Amino acid sequence: MQATYGLKPGEYDELFRLQGGVCAICRQSRSKRLDVDHCHKTGVVRGLCCARCNRQLLAKGLRDNPEIARNAAEYLEDPPAVRLIGQRFFRQST
Ligand SMILES: [Zn+2]
Repeated sequence: MQATYGLKPGEYDELFRLQGGVCAICRQSRSKRLDVDHCHKTGVVRGLCCARCNRQLLAKGLRDNPEIARNAAEYLEDPPAVRLIGQRFFRQST
């Protein structure tokens, strides 16, 4: 058994089942093993995430900050520019 980043033998599988076999964030199943995600400040084990959610989203994008995550969700659902000018479409010319 590999030392799985703070999980004891069997706990990965238990957690995997608890999460329904999917990434805790994007809820997609992955063919590869999910990452064991930790708080990057305290090291506390949080759950299983795909590499993209763990590394790109939580660590880089959201900086482990739930406030930023809430703001991002609110922003996506109710963009301020749409509130101001309605749905105006912009496409980069290729
Ligand atoms: Zn994910």
